[in-house]
Amino acid sequence: MKIMTTTSELRKELSKLERPVGFVPTMGYLHEGHLSLVDKAREDCVAVVVSIFANPSQFAPDEDLENYPRDIDRDVELLENAGVDLVWIPTVEVMYPEGYQTWIDVDQLSKLLEGTFRPTHFRGVATVVSKLFNAVGPDKAYFGQKDAQQAAVIQRMVRDLNFPIEIIICPIVREPDGVAMSSRNTYLDQEERLAARCLSRGLFLARDAYLNGERRAEIIKKIVSDEVEFEELAQLQYVSCADPNTLEELENQIQDCLVSMAVFVGRTRLIDNIILGK
Ligand code: AMP
Repeated sequence: MKIMTTTSELRKELSKLERPVGFVPTMGYLHEGHLSLVDKAREDCVAVVVSIFANPSQFAPDEDLENYPRDIDRDVELLENAGVDLVWIPTVEVMYPEGYQTWIDVDQLSKLLEGTFRPTHFRGVATVVSKLFNAVGPDKAYFGQKDAQQAAVIQRMVRDLNFPIEIIICPIVREPDGVAMSSRNTYLDQEERLAARCLSRGLFLARDAYLNGERRAEIIKKIVSDEVEFEELAQLQYVSCADPNTLEELENQIQDCLVSMAVFVGRTRLIDNIILGK
C-alpha cells in the first residue's frame, strides 16, 4: 500500500493502477462504517484509493475541527489490512493553498435539514469532494447513508457538474446496541454513550410504527422526539420526515420518507437517519 501527501506523488501512483478505480473519501479515525465502504469498493473495483483529510472548510469556527479525533498510524494499518492500494493524506496547504477562493455550492439541497444549523457545511463538503474527485479521477466513489444529506448533495453535484463518476451509497453500520458508528462517538463518556442509544431507538420505533401502517409525518416525528426527550443527557436539535430525493419536509401522509435527526448528547452532536418505505 502506497501513502502519499502531494498531488504529484498521487498522480504518479494513480497512473500505475488498473481500472476500475474505487475511491473512499474519509476524515480518518476509521471504524467499521468506513471499512464497509472500502470492502464494497474492493468487491466492485480492481484498485481502491482512500483519502484521509479532516476538511477545515466544512467545520464552522465553533465546531470541533481542532479536537477532531486523529490516529493516522492506526488508520493506515486498518487500510493496509483491508487491501487498499493507495492512501492519500493531503495537508491543508495542499488542498487550500494560499489565496484559495473557489467554492462549489449545491444551492437548494445544502440549505435544508443540517444546512439550517450548519449553513456553510455542505459548501465545504461539495468543494473538497470535487477537489478529491479531480485529483483521484475514480470510476466509482463510495459514501455512507449515515450522512444522508451529504450523499444527496454529492449525487446532485456529480450530475450537475458532469463528473464521470458513479456514486454508490452504502448502508449505515451500527454498533450491536444500534448506535450508528461515528468517529465522534469517541467524545462520549460512558453515560453519554448509553444515552446515545436514544437516536436509533427512536428511529427503530418509527420504523415499527410505519410497518404497522402509520403514515402521519407528525406522529412518526413524535415517536422519535419522545425517545430523545426521555433521555436526560440528550437534547433534540431537529427531527425531520423528508422526501428522500429533494429533502423537502413532508406534511401529513408520507410514503417513502427519510427520517433524520440531530441530537446533542452532552456537548457532542450526533446525527442518524432511517429510510422508510423503500
Ligand atoms: P467521515 O470520515 O465521517 O467523513 O466519513 C467518511 C465516509 O464514511 C462518509 O461517506 C460517511 O457517510 C461514511 N460513514 C461514516 N460512518 C458510517 C457508518 N456508521 N456507516 C456507514 N458509512 C459511514
